[in-house]
Amino acid sequence: MPSLEADFDVVPHLPLSVTGTADGATRPTTPSTTSDRIRQRLQAARASFLANDNIAAYLEEGELETLQEEVVEQVRGLLKTLVIDVDNDHNTAETAERVAKMYLHEVFKGRYHPQPKVASFPNVRELDEIYTVGPITVRSACSHHLVPILGHCWIGIQPGERVIGLSKFSRIADWVFSRPHIQEEAVIILADEIETLCKPRGLGIVLKAQHYCMKWRGVKEPQASMVNSVVRGSFRSNASMKKEFFDLIRQQESLL
Ligand SMILES: [Zn+2]
Repeated sequence: MPSLEADFDVVPHLPLSVTGTADGATRPTTPSTTSDRIRQRLQAARASFLANDNIAAYLEEGELETLQEEVVEQVRGLLKTLVIDVDNDHNTAETAERVAKMYLHEVFKGRYHPQPKVASFPNVRELDEIYTVGPITVRSACSHHLVPILGHCWIGIQPGERVIGLSKFSRIADWVFSRPHIQEEAVIILADEIETLCKPRGLGIVLKAQHYCMKWRGVKEPQASMVNSVVRGSFRSNASMKKEFFDLIRQQESLL
């Protein structure tokens, strides 16, 4: 029976990813992957590509499909590194395909897919009374552990130049939350997107969520939740407007 050393000796000790060139120099020949190409494009544009950024504008036609194939291979590699027998385990044989699809098109779709189309209309009747919408379901994941953040948010508006349909707040929230986040930043990103869409005079958002990195692991506190809020414009500058916003959402749900 051959020894382990003998087995290893069969493997040629060639330098990987380096080839000779006409000028005699050696250059790395790292294969250009889809993620490499997208990353180079983002860096050339000096665009941010943090976990909670949307990068859809930097993807070319067909790249999401080839990126998905690349993610499949990397997830399969992760499973193999975790010493899971993906070749013989019927339960995990296609886990890599499922996880890649889930990341790119479901739980992190807000990174790779463009913003859903939201029509806004001029505020012709000059509405200026506060209204609130909620609870809107929050499904996100924490950037630190990639485990779920689940909860609800409430959005309040004092209309300004433009108005959007009530259901559109849910669509925008879903798109923003479907990225790896920390809750403090998620609420600010959502507020920025809503301000861009309808330029309200006042805007308030309250987000209440449970973090599975606290429930499932770490300190294992199953009941702990995090509540945070952002108030802008008239909700920030006018104490009675701010109070009205919080009173209204308290009526929508026993909260805080
Ligand atoms: Zn976490």
